[in-house]
Amino acid sequence: MKQILHYINGEYVPSVQDRWLEGIRPDTGAVYARIALAGDAEVNAAVAAAEAAFPAWSRTPAAERARLLECIAAGIEARLEEFAQAETLDSGKPISVSRNVDIPRAVSNFRFFASAAVQFASEAHGMDGSGVNYTLRQPLGVVAGISPWNLPLYLFTWKIAPALAAGNCVVGKPSEVTPLTASMLGEVCREAGLPPGVLNILQGTGPETGAALVAHPGVKAVSFTGSTRAGREIARVAAPMLKKLSLELGGKNPFIVFDDCDLEATATAAARAAFSNQGQICLCGSRILVQRSVYDRFRDLLVEKVRAIRVGDPSDPGTQMGALVSEQHLEKVSGYLSLARAEGGRLLCGGERPDLGGALSGGYYLTPALVEGLGPACRTNQEEIFGPVATLLPFDDEEEALALANDSEYGLAASVWTQRLDRAHRLAERLAFGIVWINCWMLRDLRTPFGGVKSSGTGREGGWEAMRFFTEPKNVCIAY
Ligand code: NAD
Repeated sequence: MKQILHYINGEYVPSVQDRWLEGIRPDTGAVYARIALAGDAEVNAAVAAAEAAFPAWSRTPAAERARLLECIAAGIEARLEEFAQAETLDSGKPISVSRNVDIPRAVSNFRFFASAAVQFASEAHGMDGSGVNYTLRQPLGVVAGISPWNLPLYLFTWKIAPALAAGNCVVGKPSEVTPLTASMLGEVCREAGLPPGVLNILQGTGPETGAALVAHPGVKAVSFTGSTRAGREIARVAAPMLKKLSLELGGKNPFIVFDDCDLEATATAAARAAFSNQGQICLCGSRILVQRSVYDRFRDLLVEKVRAIRVGDPSDPGTQMGALVSEQHLEKVSGYLSLARAEGGRLLCGGERPDLGGALSGGYYLTPALVEGLGPACRTNQEEIFGPVATLLPFDDEEEALALANDSEYGLAASVWTQRLDRAHRLAERLAFGIVWINCWMLRDLRTPFGGVKSSGTGREGGWEAMRFFTEPKNVCIAY
């Protein structure tokens, strides 16, 4: 059986206490690996290795850090197929998504921050003839990166790359549900020549490994992506220790359709926004708000598109939707379908557990479900489901669309579909979301700040924001 180990100080090591978790493949439900489980001893060892590596790494010229990050990018790219297969194996997502989106985007993360490392700049402020200030932006030391299972390598590297670029040493912990690609990253770093201890990767659960890492006094900052529940718990522990925190949390995102948009193209986009990656993206548009004048036409178009989504074997290049990530998650999502019915919702399509035959009979498949007829305040419309379930709600005018969209505990991303420029700008200003997409969804520019408001998190990742997060600004004031 495959063993997934910790990567500490440049070496792959098992847990000192010989403790393991089971790695389960979502496509069949079979156990494929045992995963080392880190406790205090491994957390201490990883932080100590990172602390020892920090003085030299933080003094390494930016151009050399950039070169090493570029080598890591090239190393992942050279093994793209191996990474894509590993990601599909432990996440259940379609191989086409791993090959064409997730793994290439992990490569882009390292490339982007390799270039950012050499272009990072700080400010100077003249004081009308009496002096000048300049700001030094210095790395924090050892930082932690904790990531979820839905985009395993992409989100893991989204934290690691800027932290390393800014001169920090990192202890990363991927999700225990999808440990494989993060584990392989250690090999790439070693081959690239990244000095031992600069990046350490611990495997294990959130409440044990993650919590010990967050509470470790040597860890100066925590960059976390995951659920709002875990984010709050991390803040509860880290805030009194005055650690820097970046929290990228849950979402319940509106996808707003006005009657002046191209309905056919918008329905295609809505199906993609709701069900990409089995609906397991924090940015998924799971509340589809449609202007009443086109509601019936749009709904029928959307149902047609959603019915056409091919659910199947994740390793088949033609599959558009694979398996949900785990049995536990499938149960959670199925529970929301029962809740939607109990709350008075009508299932327009999907919500079935297809039997794909053979070994795949044991996998965690669910056909994409559309629900209508629910009020905005019901739990199905308020809670994050994080699976292939989306609801449709009608609205009359712009004010009502805005009120419905903003009626959420979350504020991650909104998507607005209209041809009217005035309306698009007006809504962009008034929507309480960290990201507003106009006539698009998931179009990303790595230079822009990324993140949500309200219960979707604090802090921003991406571009200069991420580089700044991983540095401490020091002001130097010189009198003339
Ligand atoms: P999760 O919160 O259960 O776990 C995320 C990570 O945190 C895992 O590595 C887990 O082991 C660890 N963890 C859990 N509890 C912890 C604790 N107390 N201390 C330290 N670490 C802990 O989330 P998940 O189920 O893996 O991912 C799904 C969630 O992630 C959804 O809510 C989704 O919206 C969110 N998400 C947000 C973004 C974003 O950018 N805002 C992106 C992707 C996913």
